[in-house]
Amino acid sequence: AAFSTLSLRPDLLDNLATLGYEAMTPIQQQSLPDILAGRDVIAQGQTGSGKTAAFGLGLLQKLDITKPHVQSLVLCPTRELADQVAKEIRKLARKLANIKVLTLCGGMPFGPQIGSLEHGAHIIVGTPGRIEDHMNRGTLKLDRVTTLVLDEADRMLEMGFQSVLDSIIGKIPKQRQTLLFSATFPDQIQSVAKRIMDKPVMVAV
Ligand code: AMP
Repeated sequence: AAFSTLSLRPDLLDNLATLGYEAMTPIQQQSLPDILAGRDVIAQGQTGSGKTAAFGLGLLQKLDITKPHVQSLVLCPTRELADQVAKEIRKLARKLANIKVLTLCGGMPFGPQIGSLEHGAHIIVGTPGRIEDHMNRGTLKLDRVTTLVLDEADRMLEMGFQSVLDSIIGKIPKQRQTLLFSATFPDQIQSVAKRIMDKPVMVAV
């Protein structure tokens, strides 16, 4: 199906046409209606499936650019993935003026990250350890997040991020939309989903 069948903002739709995204990929087709309706969604998606645009369009559609605080948090297992996700979100957001997408990853110096945070960001994409560090230092405020995305959740758990994720998620508003993407669904993922999500819709492609 075409993206135009969704009730997306015209600036997002125009940009999708410019990017040459015509038909939705299967994961987009199956998840976007529920994502745009504000529901929690668990989706099985691998790299190459178009999962980034599935959650990216969801969070961009909801964003209020006039509000200069963090509204979306995307957690990724690695810096490489975080960079790739931020790049795709910026591409999708090309027609939204003044939007700020910031990556916060470990292995990078704190100074420039703190400088960027002081200028304000709407969307944060990063790795759990560094996000937690910034929260603990008081340099990152997540008390007005309305969308939380866990990308490659299975890999984050395999890397031992469970307790860091719990600590981050415990400090963001309970009243939020949570989207979880994972290639596999071991028991650990299902129990995390049960704890942090509200009546999630399951999508498998
Ligand atoms: P992802 O699985 O999110 O890493 O996306 C894989 C690639 O597919 C990215 O380079 C996207 O830019 C591209 N892509 C995502 N959705 C679509 C679409 N509906 N039509 C064409 N390309 C797409």
